[in-house]
Amino acid sequence: MSADLPARRRRTRDTVLAAITQLGPATRAELSRRTGLSRSAVGDCVAGLLLEGLIAEGWSDEPTAGRGRPASVLSVRGATGVVLGIDLGHAHVTAALATTLGEVLAECSDELDVDHLPGQALDLAARLAERALRAGGHRLDEVRGVAAGIPGPLAMRTNVVSAPTILADWVGLDPAAELGRRLGRPVVVANDADMGAQGERVFGAARRFDDFLYVKASHGIGAGIVLAGQTYRGSAGFAGEIGHTHIPGASNWCRCGSRGCLETVVSISHVRRRLAHILSTSGATMSEHRLPPLGELADNPAAARVLTDAGRTIGRVVADLVNCLNPAAIVLGGELGAAGEPFVGGVRESIDRYAQPASALTAQVVAGQLGSRAELLGTIAIASRAPTSVVGGHT
Ligand SMILES: [Zn+2]
Repeated sequence: MSADLPARRRRTRDTVLAAITQLGPATRAELSRRTGLSRSAVGDCVAGLLLEGLIAEGWSDEPTAGRGRPASVLSVRGATGVVLGIDLGHAHVTAALATTLGEVLAECSDELDVDHLPGQALDLAARLAERALRAGGHRLDEVRGVAAGIPGPLAMRTNVVSAPTILADWVGLDPAAELGRRLGRPVVVANDADMGAQGERVFGAARRFDDFLYVKASHGIGAGIVLAGQTYRGSAGFAGEIGHTHIPGASNWCRCGSRGCLETVVSISHVRRRLAHILSTSGATMSEHRLPPLGELADNPAAARVLTDAGRTIGRVVADLVNCLNPAAIVLGGELGAAGEPFVGGVRESIDRYAQPASALTAQVVAGQLGSRAELLGTIAIASRAPTSVVGGHT
């Protein structure tokens, strides 16, 4: 595979998008003629642009010559309405009203122990969604889709939370049904790291990648895996739980009942405690809750070392995934991903040290562009793609 394929694919994508813009509603055959690209290259590119939500597929009023049925035509999308996105983290709930192009019109958020209070978290999510709707000046019946991310895996077959060691107090709950009942609308629910991956893919740093890992490094640490353009959830829905990988030499108890998990070493709360310790002066103790944003600490050599060390630890685990999956990119999200270069550099170091050189060489390591908003924007992307949300019937 050519090393510059992502750049070539991006140029093709831009060429096809420009042709659709210039031609107005156009068939794939017309796009092929206009751009000189093969039908299959245009088809692949169109599939990606539909996924990104940048174009819509509809039907021409003109019957196709000789076939007597209308042709499928493609056009650049404007915003086609509003959607609701809901992000449930381990310690917060956020709901946003946004256009289908990801422009947030109103957003409401509150802190809560989501892991241990599922009923209250779902109630709060519904209240915040209704508040965001009111703040944005819209009614529920105007919303074209609703999606939510939760900080744990869902069983693929049943859509129920069923991993007994992760989000244990949610086991047996069907969050989509519960939220749907509270809101009176169908709701699409997925794991938060998968939502983060979609957010970065549609609106952020992963736009040009079909094979990448999104690492949400926050209170929990999880990976959203995108392979050949599709979210990979494993055989039953539990893929990506990298936070529960054992770190040699670590022995603290983890919420999953095991000891020495990655999360017990470098969750954001552990890193914040370390940073607060080194930023405290002899006269004043720094509270971990009063730290400046992590992205502002890169110039402090001691803080940068803490963040680099956290990156190395997570990178050691990610390096094994790089060996297994040969992704084109690792996109770092969550609060730690927003820490910038010291953290990203640490992840890069470990991948270079522990992954096979050929795979390490082809894996870019980048900070997410959306920071800790990737999950919320992912829910907006998914809600915008809901069956009723796309003009022309493409889903
Ligand atoms: Zn664990």
